[in-house]
Amino acid sequence: MRIQLQSKLPNVGVTIFTEINELAVRHNAINLGQGFPDYNVNSDLHELVADAMRNGFNQYTHMNGYPPLRQKIAAKIKTLYNADVDPDSSITVTPGGTYAIYTAVTSLLRPGDEAIVFEPAYDSYIPNIELNSGKAVTVPLRFPDYSIPWDLVDKAITSRTRLIILNSPHNPTGALITENDIVELSKRVAGTDIMIISDEVYEHLIFDGKPHLSLLKYPELASRSFVCFSFGKTYSCTGWKLGYCIAPPELMKEFRKVHQFNCFTCDTPKQIALAQYLDNSNVYLSLAPLMEAKRNFLRELMKKTPFKLIPSHGSYFECYSYGHFSQESDRDFAARMIRECGVATIPVSAFYRTGQDDHVVRFCFAKKESTLEEAAKRILKLF
Ligand code: PMP
Ligand code: GLN
Repeated sequence: MRIQLQSKLPNVGVTIFTEINELAVRHNAINLGQGFPDYNVNSDLHELVADAMRNGFNQYTHMNGYPPLRQKIAAKIKTLYNADVDPDSSITVTPGGTYAIYTAVTSLLRPGDEAIVFEPAYDSYIPNIELNSGKAVTVPLRFPDYSIPWDLVDKAITSRTRLIILNSPHNPTGALITENDIVELSKRVAGTDIMIISDEVYEHLIFDGKPHLSLLKYPELASRSFVCFSFGKTYSCTGWKLGYCIAPPELMKEFRKVHQFNCFTCDTPKQIALAQYLDNSNVYLSLAPLMEAKRNFLRELMKKTPFKLIPSHGSYFECYSYGHFSQESDRDFAARMIRECGVATIPVSAFYRTGQDDHVVRFCFAKKESTLEEAAKRILKLF
């Protein structure tokens, strides 16, 4: 008998990141696609991990995260966002931000519940909702500034809406939410049982003097939110897959029920290292100017090409449109860039369920200047 598995995700293939990475390797392309730095983690952090391993911290740590790490996270949140977060009942360390989001979705969605997702959206959100038999209700951000159209949110909210997923700084566009968005969101959720997942993995990647509007700063919103973070983004160690979630105790209790049977506990030596490394606030506070310089460097280089910038103030991505010189689909265009000039980018249509194609590709600028320079040189070969 041939065993048949009925897919729980029939409309999902392999992620765009894997697809583009494979193509980039095949064509020996410079990879400005997937979001990861092409330089090493700070050697101090590296040493702290090695020390923890050498000192014998190689067994399971606490299910909710190494306690001193949770205390340091709470102190950081207090300093940055003036929020009192209890490390025992409100913080859980997770194997990355993506896992934190999945766990939050799983702990709150029931079959038939609706979840509002703004598109373009980080590609895990909708499959997370559908795996939990929820219904993703998509709201397109306004092109080209990718602001939130609150009038469309009103149309999307129904009596079954259980969740809104917010992401600022936003992947793939780099857009930021504004104080007005906070007001509009607050108005819509007040008096309802709508929960929020706030994906803030790029909290330290904000430029042009803008502040990060963490939902933790707003008690009314924080009281219904799972706020998700990633050490991978903050410390340029995406391959470590460590992050954390912050939520009020009653929500975190449910989050942990899922977490304890899925992962239970995360990498001990790295948590010990991160707990020590968090003492130096200069490291995460200096990330923004460093990355802003890289963004500006790429902007200058791209001025020599016909690409049109879609300016943004956050994340380590920036989007460029090409519709004025090519009508190819963004997937075809991105593939051709890899083949013909050896530079990989991400086609933004991959972040829309409908495949909406505005002829935009996403560049990751978390790279050495020499990498960005070489990429720009190669891009000129296209024209
Ligand atoms: N959310 C967004 C928007 C992201 O871009 C990422 C990066 N992959 C994550 C969450 C989670 O990152 P990680 O799981 O690597 O910590
Ligand atoms: N966050 C990164 C990006 O958007 C990597 C995501 C992934 O590989 N799943 O490129």
